[in-house]
Amino acid sequence: MFEKVLIANRGEIALRIHRACREMGIQTVAVHSTADADAMHVRLADEAVCIGPASARESYLNIPAILTAATITGADAIHPGIGFMSENAQFAQMVEEHGFTFIGPTPEHIRIMGDKVTAKKTVLELGLPVVPGSSGPVDTLEEAVEVAERTGYPVLIKAAAGGGGKGMKVAYSADQLREAYQLARGEARAAFGNDQVYMERYLSKPRHIEIQLLGDMHGNAVHFGERDCSIQRRHQKVIEEAPSPALNAAQRQFIGDLAARTTAQLGYRGVGTMEFLFEDGEFFFIEMNTRLQVEHTITEMITSIDLVREQIRVATGAPLGYSQEDIRFHGHAIECRVNAEHPETFMPSPGKIDGYHAPGGLGVRVDSALYDGYRVPPHYDSLIAKLVVHGTTRNECMMRLRRALEEFVIGGVDTSLPLHRRIIAEANFINGDYDIHWLEQMMKLR
Ligand code: ADP
Repeated sequence: MFEKVLIANRGEIALRIHRACREMGIQTVAVHSTADADAMHVRLADEAVCIGPASARESYLNIPAILTAATITGADAIHPGIGFMSENAQFAQMVEEHGFTFIGPTPEHIRIMGDKVTAKKTVLELGLPVVPGSSGPVDTLEEAVEVAERTGYPVLIKAAAGGGGKGMKVAYSADQLREAYQLARGEARAAFGNDQVYMERYLSKPRHIEIQLLGDMHGNAVHFGERDCSIQRRHQKVIEEAPSPALNAAQRQFIGDLAARTTAQLGYRGVGTMEFLFEDGEFFFIEMNTRLQVEHTITEMITSIDLVREQIRVATGAPLGYSQEDIRFHGHAIECRVNAEHPETFMPSPGKIDGYHAPGGLGVRVDSALYDGYRVPPHYDSLIAKLVVHGTTRNECMMRLRRALEEFVIGGVDTSLPLHRRIIAEANFINGDYDIHWLEQMMKLR
């Protein structure tokens, strides 16, 4: 087992990783920017090293600074968390070349899945269904028109290096396609330094269903069921729930087994998530994230398994030690992502927290690095808390979520709490009757 793990991240996820390490008897090293000197995980970690100024480029994305911090503190392994360096194959490779363990998959798997065109090709060859569209990158407008005619409108142009919903444009006609194609390439170039795009049929009412996976270094892989992440705004998840109210037992077993089998065939190690769109009873693979996900918490609630602990365990080379049948599911869980932003305009709202009260009680979990008097810095992601609620049934879970949202107080900054309170009062949400477009349509209606 590792003695010391360096956590190359910040915010609630750095705290989440610290917690798993402490429960495993592992010492932690926090690395932080000057803007995060007062952060909760920095205070709680055994050691802390400042790796640069506020700008992420010079701190959380600064490979030499992170590796130097690992060297001077004598860390055995580096956990990249979510975002920042977590899906950077070069970083994973350099970590290993410097004699540290990278808590994640091989650089090769990160590379394959990081390019969504290669990712789709790879899983298609292994028998996974993918969204119909171009068979590879679409390098010219003429090609884009051809693909659209073959696939049928509307089409979606997506960035090969995409993430966070950036570089995605819809076109309903050849005319729109001309503009959308150039816009998508421009956005992809600006966001990822890579303007390669590909195309998919734009599904009109899919749900986003993803499978939580775990593989070890010995060829074993299991799944931990699905999460329904269809409550989205601008292709970004807002609320997630597990299990999905849209799947029946046969569909659930089909996609879980298929994803786990594919993970084993890939020889994939560590935690990962295969994302699918689900429409008219059919699943279509869209991408695989080769890291922990924000919403891993709801899976933990319905399986009672600490996924970060499992991730660390398999990184040491330990075998899974259990089979698919050993993973049991109980009850229902929902997560609300609470952002420091205006609930209607979505303007970021950094600043000092003035009054903080987290909800509690049976079945309520709050993953947050906030405390009263903390200053939410303006430089990073706006996620400040995850409210995760579990109940024995979906109805119990919803009732519990309602009262937990009533209790939650975050003063001093605007937050998305009012939006969450509004969503969970909607009949469609209560009935589990929603697709990926529902939230945006609901907000436009009112
Ligand atoms: P990113 O990596 O940027 O998050 P994804 O490929 O995971 O991009 O897609 C993000 C979201 O965009 C999906 O959850 C879904 O809501 C929407 N989306 C992606 N592909 C399609 C598609 N072919 N049709 C309709 N919606 C899509």
